Amino acid sequence: MTQEPARRPLTGETLESLRVALAGRGEKEFRARQILEWVYKRRARSWDEMTNLPKALRAWLGETFCLMPASLVLNRHSADVTDKLLLELWDKSLIETVIIRAPQEGVGVEHSRKTICISTQVGCAMGCVFCASGLAGLRRDLSAGEIVAQLLQVCYAEDLRTPRARAELASFDNIVVMGMGEPLANYDALIRALTIVNAEWGLGFGARRITVSTSGLAPKIERLAGEPLGFRLAVSLHGATDEVRGRIMPVNKAYPLAKLLPAVKAFTERHGRMATLEFILIEDVNDSLEQARALRAIALDLHAHVNLIPYNSVEGLPWRRPDAMRQQAFAEVLRKAGISVTLRREKGHDIAAACGQLRLKTERERAAVAPGG
Ligand code: SAH
Ligand code: SF4
Repeated sequence: MTQEPARRPLTGETLESLRVALAGRGEKEFRARQILEWVYKRRARSWDEMTNLPKALRAWLGETFCLMPASLVLNRHSADVTDKLLLELWDKSLIETVIIRAPQEGVGVEHSRKTICISTQVGCAMGCVFCASGLAGLRRDLSAGEIVAQLLQVCYAEDLRTPRARAELASFDNIVVMGMGEPLANYDALIRALTIVNAEWGLGFGARRITVSTSGLAPKIERLAGEPLGFRLAVSLHGATDEVRGRIMPVNKAYPLAKLLPAVKAFTERHGRMATLEFILIEDVNDSLEQARALRAIALDLHAHVNLIPYNSVEGLPWRRPDAMRQQAFAEVLRKAGISVTLRREKGHDIAAACGQLRLKTERERAAVAPGG
């Protein structure tokens, strides 16, 4: 797509880039901070709210920038642990942002730990055979402003729900970049967005509480290791041998385990933090005890945490999750070796599966209403 949005998203600006834009108009330097404070601290929803800015400046801002580049189409609040925000972008693309609550014992839901799952692309080009996000390929990358906007939309939604949220800059506990798209294939926008999210003039959110999940772009993992902000890393392994991984993840051809694993090791050594290996269990594909033993060797060598996720069925795809006994047996092989393992048991609430499915459904409904549109 060659078209561009008419106005730059303000959520994609850094303090520096905003200063430069303002200087071009002869504005004072302190205005940049003032504007960003309206955006992130006070959550202004219109230019008119920014009452300490001169009218002419507000008018220019409105002509130059888009205050919120992702509009809320649907907030599916469920009684259980997830809220899904369906957002529409300037070109009608849909993305999903998910709030996952982990209730704490003895306290109200407003005090639950919250993890936000964000998207980095519309669709995905990686072609993993089990994944809903990649079914229609890649439509486009998200801009930094569109990535940040997802988190601001979460703030808006939470501000309405709990007093805690209004009192805080960002009322969530973790960010996982596990929504639609391969984050490291949109590297520059990702880093710019996370820099804005981390900055004290932005959402002030700690890099250590941000996890970037990748399907395994080894050179980009090495590059990520060199970033000044220390993000956490999760790697979608899903196969513990090249043979099995290669069958379900085309990326394994370019970056087989012999290239991927050293990159993960370098990342861990550089940061002194355990990486997470994600492993979705798919019946008769990667759930054998042989795979469990191969995964055990990898996890021990990398000193990595393993996250086992029973596969969530996707409409139109043949894959399913193994039964609970088989999941347990797989996990046990790892646990016995002293590896830190989590096995998610609740149905349909997995972080990963929560992302992507609402968008797929809405796109299908739209296509049915307006064929070709
Ligand atoms: N592209 C990145 C991040 C987004 S996908 C990556 O692949 O890591 C986030 C996670 O969801 C990945 O581990 C992915 O393999 C997993 N996933 C995709 N489809 C799934 C499904 N139907 N059930 C369970 N996990 C799924
Ligand atoms: Fe893309 Fe990740 Fe889905 Fe693979 S699992 S198609 S990399 S979103």
